[in-house]
Amino acid sequence: MTSKTMDHSIGPKSLAAFDRARALIPGGVNSPARAFGAVGGSPLFIDRAEGAYIFDIDGRRFLDYIGSWGPMILGHACPEVVDAVVRAVGRGSSYGAPTEAESELAEQIIDAVPSIERVRLVNSGTEATMSAIRVARGATGRDKVIKFAGNYHGHVDSLLVAAGSAAATLGVPDSPGVTAGAGGDTIVLPYNDVAALEEAFNQHGSKIAAVILEPVVGNMGLVIPSSEFLNSLRSITEKAGTILIFDEVMTGFRLAYGGAQQRFGITPDMTTLGKIVGGGMPLAAYGGRADIMDQVLPAGKVFQAGTLSGNPVAVAAGSATLRILKEESPYDSLDKMGDRLSEGLADAATAAGVPHQVQHVGSMVTLFFNPDPVRNWDDADRSDREAYARYFWGMIGEGIYMPCSQFEALFFSRVHTEAMIDQTIDAAKKVLASF
Ligand code: PLP
Repeated sequence: MTSKTMDHSIGPKSLAAFDRARALIPGGVNSPARAFGAVGGSPLFIDRAEGAYIFDIDGRRFLDYIGSWGPMILGHACPEVVDAVVRAVGRGSSYGAPTEAESELAEQIIDAVPSIERVRLVNSGTEATMSAIRVARGATGRDKVIKFAGNYHGHVDSLLVAAGSAAATLGVPDSPGVTAGAGGDTIVLPYNDVAALEEAFNQHGSKIAAVILEPVVGNMGLVIPSSEFLNSLRSITEKAGTILIFDEVMTGFRLAYGGAQQRFGITPDMTTLGKIVGGGMPLAAYGGRADIMDQVLPAGKVFQAGTLSGNPVAVAAGSATLRILKEESPYDSLDKMGDRLSEGLADAATAAGVPHQVQHVGSMVTLFFNPDPVRNWDDADRSDREAYARYFWGMIGEGIYMPCSQFEALFFSRVHTEAMIDQTIDAAKKVLASF
């Protein structure tokens, strides 16, 4: 595929905007996945979004399956969330002092997420995982951390090793600037591999502060944990006095109101949250057992702070979002639509004779251009990225905005309808038939 063919799908205003941005911002974007590097070509520049649709600055409308990479489970510009934000910002956008609204959001989180007895609000998922690791080390007095290849936990130095998401997409699992020292206490294991986990604990057990994982992985495409893997994680860490951290930045409030831990019935010691918990504003959280979280300053001695943490506008968006999710509980309907979309995409690929695996949980789905089941990063890495790029651009041509990498899950919202899902399947049939 030539870059001319790919740029074909991008309007002239987006092309010009990208040229301008590239002279001002590294690579023209403020987060690497947005540059469309994994599929080749230029990104759409966005004007606005409403409901299930996103509109580019060339005035074209796309059915959105990115949803800001997860937060927009209620759909874009949800009126109740917009109202809450407008009301909050009119009262001042930041105070640097406590508010009652922070306790209300904390109550909502604690009520929802089984593992969380105390919670701290921060500004991004990266901050949440960075802080959770620090607290786990402080609480245990141990240094080592286990993470899994292909799991992404934000750009925390010690976790930017064999990371998924844009790091996997760009083929730079280890970033320049991360010192050997920063990654030196990180042990990387294959996902879903109980024997490797047992072996790591046999070797280092008494030195391991924490195991962190995505309890359903979104960042190497959608990968599902086996129940044996999750059960072993829980029992092995418990026995070793190691803190088990579920990174639910993507899965929290998405796979169930109480996240993957509620869906699977496995309770970790700590949990990180982001994306949905901030309702589309920069807000994230980490929390867990009271005895662990009480190590955090000023209750305890582990330092963690933030000028904008608990920001009243972000808290208003998050609180309104959680209130609606609790009241409406859209999860059964999201599950049904996820089944419908997954079956439809698989049928479309089968009809076209395209080797594939569709993996999904609830409203997170990945069509892997891979004939075999994907259980870990090595499996994911064997997927046909070039085929994914062709699929991506074909879908853009059909007005469907899919994740711009094979190694990302798509997300849909409670305002996506069955008719939209069927339209997406029809588009996929057409695109894959032309392969
Ligand atoms: N953890 C997971 C599982 C994520 O998917 C992400 C981001 O995609 C992060 C952490 C980092 O969150 P943020 O981009 O808000 O720093």
